[in-house]
Amino acid sequence: MKLYMFECGILKSQKHLFTMGRGVGVPFDVPVPFFLIEHKDAKILYDTGNALEVARDKVKHWGAGTVAAYDPIMTEDQYVVNQLAKLGITPQQITHVIFSHLHLDHAGGCGAFPNATYYVQRAEMQYAYVPDFYQRAAYIRADFDKPYLNWYLLEGHQEDFYDVLGDGKVKIVFTPGHTPGHQSLLVYLDKWGPTLLTGDSIYTTEILNEDVLPGLVYSPPDCVKSIKKMRNLQRVHGVRIITGHDPDSWAKLKHAPEYYE
Ligand SMILES: [Zn+2]
Repeated sequence: MKLYMFECGILKSQKHLFTMGRGVGVPFDVPVPFFLIEHKDAKILYDTGNALEVARDKVKHWGAGTVAAYDPIMTEDQYVVNQLAKLGITPQQITHVIFSHLHLDHAGGCGAFPNATYYVQRAEMQYAYVPDFYQRAAYIRADFDKPYLNWYLLEGHQEDFYDVLGDGKVKIVFTPGHTPGHQSLLVYLDKWGPTLLTGDSIYTTEILNEDVLPGLVYSPPDCVKSIKKMRNLQRVHGVRIITGHDPDSWAKLKHAPEYYE
């Protein structure tokens, strides 16, 4: 099994939007990651980066307010489908698309994979249609409003550690807090060991190691419980934690076409 890490451009932003109350106004450029797991029986995407439209007219697709706070710098080459093509992978070959959540920099490739089953938490799907005022700009309905896709809606704690392929190699871990239905992906690699892709539940290493909340939070209590859960996976079970929008730790990782196995 192989794990590929991709960057769908960056967001030019400010630090306090990622670590609550810290680095107010300090410029902070973060990667927009997405991941491919190549298994002998499956090709699984965890998140899909930004929509292609962002490379063409970001203000039209995301809105001026969002672009002012999180300016996406992305080329058409960085769109998920085009990056997979460089590895010789067609959209038809993708079997599973697992969304950490449906925010605009994660669900931009929704619908591009005709044979895939799309996995998202039911709570996330419901919230994405009617978010609270402060999260409205983070959900682009045109990206995810595709009821004709083959969706599998997960039921939170009742389906925690959902075994995607039935062989224990890839599990979905419920990590709400940033949004109501955020989920992480636990991948058991033969050489690199168990690895947790945390999406936006742990933006940066600072959030993993220090007591600071992410800058955008739906539920602080759930966020804290999810951070504790992931720290426990790291401490007790030796799970490697991959943060979601951390420029420093991201720069130290191997990116596609290199991979971990
Ligand atoms: Zn998010």
